[in-house]
Amino acid sequence: MVLLALCLTASGCREKGESASVRAGLPAQDLPAATVTARVVRVIDGDTVVVRFETSPAVSPSGNGYSLRVPGGWVRVGREEKVRLIGVNAPETGSGQREAEMYGWEAKAYTRKRTLGRVVRLEFDVETRDRYGRLLAYLYLDGNLFNRELVKEGYAQVYTVPPNLKYTAAFLSAQREALEAGRGLWQRRHFVTGPVIGNSRTYTYHLPGCSGLPTLANRVYFRNEREALMSGYHPCRKCCLQRRLEGGK
Ligand SMILES: [Zn+2]
Repeated sequence: MVLLALCLTASGCREKGESASVRAGLPAQDLPAATVTARVVRVIDGDTVVVRFETSPAVSPSGNGYSLRVPGGWVRVGREEKVRLIGVNAPETGSGQREAEMYGWEAKAYTRKRTLGRVVRLEFDVETRDRYGRLLAYLYLDGNLFNRELVKEGYAQVYTVPPNLKYTAAFLSAQREALEAGRGLWQRRHFVTGPVIGNSRTYTYHLPGCSGLPTLANRVYFRNEREALMSGYHPCRKCCLQRRLEGGK
């Protein structure tokens, strides 16, 4: 209780080392040297697209697919690959048993309008695939980082997943702007005004009564939900926080 009170007075009570992992921001219109060219052939959701690779200096034919040059080596890919944009989470449009989330269709329509059929550049971070086998990338359109644009326009929220933290600071500042302006998915968003508890390893936050709270050593205490979001944390699905907040059943 003493610890909690202490944390509530200090702004957010961040864990040591977290600020070091949130690295420097991204200069405007700055396309990094190490990128791979591909064409967007399908849009799955606001934050997930399918790209087709073609041979280029950083893309070598390999079997039925290609080898891509990524930081620290090469990775094998097919001719077409599903790409999940790093660091952002757009609401889902729903498929099978999963219901559509509020603003999911708007986010998908926006990504489709901006990227479908376009030749884009992809940049990779430390981890190149997620547990579903999707490539994880930063997507550049005309030299601008589209991941950040999604957040800035309110079509996605920051979704921090270590170790891919290269542009976390830039995404957070874009989210602050969208949130303060009430853009897109933030328009009708209601925030929990009481304390929420973050997990410094996964960057999720929970209501104090959630059964999935992190161990004491990994807890980060926030005065309210807005503060957790501003720090780059995303809501836990287990305590259904997201759905409840967005008007779900
Ligand atoms: Zn929870």
